[in-house]
Amino acid sequence: GPAPEADAPVRQWLQAHDGKFGQYVNGRWTDVDDARLFDVQEPANGKRLARVSQGNEADVDAAVQAARAALPKWKALGGHARARYLYALARAVQKHSRLLAVLETMDNGKSIRETRDIDIPLVARHFYHHAGWAQLLESEFAGYEGAGVVGQIIPWNFPLLMLAWKVAPALAAGCTVVLKPAEFTPMTALAFAELAHEVGLPNGVLNIVTGDGETGKLLVAHEGVDKLAFTGSTEVGRIIRKATAGSGKKLSLELGGKSPFIVFDDADLDSVVEGVVDAIWFNQGQVCCAGSRLLVQEGVADRLYEKLRARMERLRLGNPLDKAVDIGAIVAPVQLERIRGLVEQGREEGAQMWQPSWACPAEGCFYPPTLFTDVSPSATIAQVEIFGPVLVAMTFRTPGEAVSLANNTPYGLAASVWSENINLALDVAPKLKCGVVWVNSTNLFDAAAGFGGYRESGFGREGGREGMWEYLKPAGTRDPGPGTRE
Ligand code: NAD
Repeated sequence: GPAPEADAPVRQWLQAHDGKFGQYVNGRWTDVDDARLFDVQEPANGKRLARVSQGNEADVDAAVQAARAALPKWKALGGHARARYLYALARAVQKHSRLLAVLETMDNGKSIRETRDIDIPLVARHFYHHAGWAQLLESEFAGYEGAGVVGQIIPWNFPLLMLAWKVAPALAAGCTVVLKPAEFTPMTALAFAELAHEVGLPNGVLNIVTGDGETGKLLVAHEGVDKLAFTGSTEVGRIIRKATAGSGKKLSLELGGKSPFIVFDDADLDSVVEGVVDAIWFNQGQVCCAGSRLLVQEGVADRLYEKLRARMERLRLGNPLDKAVDIGAIVAPVQLERIRGLVEQGREEGAQMWQPSWACPAEGCFYPPTLFTDVSPSATIAQVEIFGPVLVAMTFRTPGEAVSLANNTPYGLAASVWSENINLALDVAPKLKCGVVWVNSTNLFDAAAGFGGYRESGFGREGGREGMWEYLKPAGTRDPGPGTRE
């Protein structure tokens, strides 16, 4: 079970806030308006974790005005001085890593092993890495400067990591920020606001406004925003693209995926099985680049499915605060219902479904790891992003067939290729329509490697040198949009 008192630091922190939060604007918490509070729940047990404010037009406007007022000084500081703040933020994340990991696990439902070993260390890594870019800005990006005031909207699947992907390059480039976390998982962004305060980040450089899609819309529409960065569903990405068309706002979109995981008959099947676990059961499959379509060469399909079922039987699902747990909770009841509906549809359309024999806990938002075989490439479950622990398997005969099956969705985010024949893997990789291909590995991330997709998976890159371009513009040019810019 979970360590006794595992959640004690979180309970203390929540108590210090009386369990309710206003917005973090211009270096201060706004007063809480009880009429605008909404509940944030722990998906593992359905209990209320905290109450958070629904941001309205006045909140968004105050945050954008604060970011705009802070911009000239922040820009003028220069990269070297800004780097010191980024290093300080990275160290603050490390110092408070236990609180952040437990808080993220309670808020999102993902296992403590993941938040402790993956999410939070990567957050720190992103700030360290971008401190380096801040120092190199004047030499490596001569003639460019920060794009201005940035509006950032992020999803619930990697709450603090998505914040880091967005905030670190923006601050390094000399932008000021208004960030809106997802309504299911705002807690670590609010805790991060306090870290920014603790390290003395100048007021107004980072503002956090909570709320749902309505608050997001207000940020997208605000005239004082020069650049928007969005990560979330393809559907909302499309709405934002339309809403900003002709506005002059710079835009980047990181959207959904239905990534192929391609296994050739010479692959090492035991490694493949562990790869599949990381591809589709990491974070309960709520990963934009999850290897959600398993494409297997015909000759090894049955052997692989058998190994996979044995491994699935041994996966441990349950209380995400328990260090022995592999699979935690689904983020929210509405998401659980969506997964259930798509699985039902998969069965109705004639695919074979398999789940382990053990039962999920009766309470909380849990869904078992699920394998579909005999899936038609045109079936709904083979085309639609399920965003849950559901793997959809299909077979192919030749490498050419594997490539055309892999490319047979509107998405283009990631792919994984498994073969002991490196020539085959390197021949197939560039034919796959996606932003990243992993060979004999999957779901590997680093702050130095630009991540992003194309087609219906969006555009723009996050991380590394490529990611910095998203937050820069030619120096001396007017900020790109109309309205209230300097
Ligand atoms: P979502 O699109 O429903 O919500 C994302 C964010 O947008 C939330 O903060 C939400 O409040 C806000 N929002 C909703 N409607 C809005 C509107 N009309 N205008 C402005 N903001 C609005 O997505 P989600 O369900 O939170 O996240 C899951 C999706 O995110 C999946 O499709 C997943 O693939 C994608 N994702 C992509 C990446 C990537 O890097 N490509 C990474 C993580 C998640």
